[in-house]
Amino acid sequence: MRTDDIFSDKDADLSKLDGKTVAILGYGSQGHAHALNLKDSGVDVVVGLRPDSSSRAKAEAAGLEVLDVAEAASRGDLVMILLPDEKQAEVWREEISDGIAPGNLLLFAHGFAIHFGEIEPPPGVDVGMVAPKGPGHLVRRQYEEGSGVPCLMAVHQDDSGQAHDLVLAYASGIGGGRAAIIETTFKDECETDLFGEQAVLCGGASELVRAGYETLVEAGYDPRLAYFECLHELKLIADLMYEKGIQGMRYSISNTAEYGDMTRGKRVIGEESRAAMKQILKEIQDGDFAREFIAENRAGNENFDRMRKEGEGHQIEEIGHDLRDMMPWIDQTFKDTK
Ligand code: NAD
Ligand code: MG
Ligand code: MG
Repeated sequence: MRTDDIFSDKDADLSKLDGKTVAILGYGSQGHAHALNLKDSGVDVVVGLRPDSSSRAKAEAAGLEVLDVAEAASRGDLVMILLPDEKQAEVWREEISDGIAPGNLLLFAHGFAIHFGEIEPPPGVDVGMVAPKGPGHLVRRQYEEGSGVPCLMAVHQDDSGQAHDLVLAYASGIGGGRAAIIETTFKDECETDLFGEQAVLCGGASELVRAGYETLVEAGYDPRLAYFECLHELKLIADLMYEKGIQGMRYSISNTAEYGDMTRGKRVIGEESRAAMKQILKEIQDGDFAREFIAENRAGNENFDRMRKEGEGHQIEEIGHDLRDMMPWIDQTFKDTK
């Protein structure tokens, strides 16, 4: 494995952020975690939010200084945009761009807006990325526990000659350097992130769970058993894969499960699924997915909202809700999960 592009805390110099202000725009999943971790790392942080934002009180209660988006963007020497990807271009035009001066570092946690040309930063401004490979609540929780979530970093524009060191210092400040900070490009981060969430983590996994659940329920089995077998136990298997890889997971399961895995898995994810994955990747690379998603947002998200409602109406949600009520620790652990 290549390691010359992997960095950790020993390679990062947090003092590069001394005397600088970091503006975090947005206080959602990533925003709250970045702002709080940087503050606890001794960095001077301000948070930019809409005047009517419900997060304002939360951020202030956590001891953070909250400003309007435009004010924060102009105050920050480093400005991290942690707004929803589909909204970034509009907010950039209306509230952020005026506040970005030559020598500032504009940061993103995902390559989407830059890679697909939604935002075109002016020359003279540095542009970088710090993308944690985990949701915000984990970025915060791991930091508090003394560990960190691995991050990808990238430099898109480096006019000052300082961008690499500053991006690395930021990644270290949110805890990424306690694990690994891997340098990549906006293109590769963006395209692999979209592919992962569409084909495997979110799209693939959700449909796999539903298809398995529906197969059992349609065959007359108890929906509660179907829920446990097809959804609940997925976490146990995912945890084993996370800790030990696929072969390590296979070592821990029964021989019966392992034989069934190796002889049946390829029938579920066969040539048709692999061809679909290739097509999905092509649509990401061609920019078709990005255009579709932006257009959906501009049109008012009618399809997006309808699909969310359909998802909520699925029987597995009701069964799952009732069963999870019998496992109160689940709500405790994941109550702030987005
Ligand atoms: P989010 O939806 O959780 O939070 C967005 C924040 O922006 C909220 O505070 C919201 O109130 C605010 N906001 C929305 N519209 C706004 C507007 N018009 N003006 C001002 N503020 C506005 O988003 P997130 O999941 O934290 O994603 C932020 C970025 O981080 C995205 O680029 C995303 O791709 C990236 N990212 C997310 C994750 C994740 O797991 N959530 C992981 C890695 C990277
Ligand atoms: Mg993503
Ligand atoms: Mg079993």
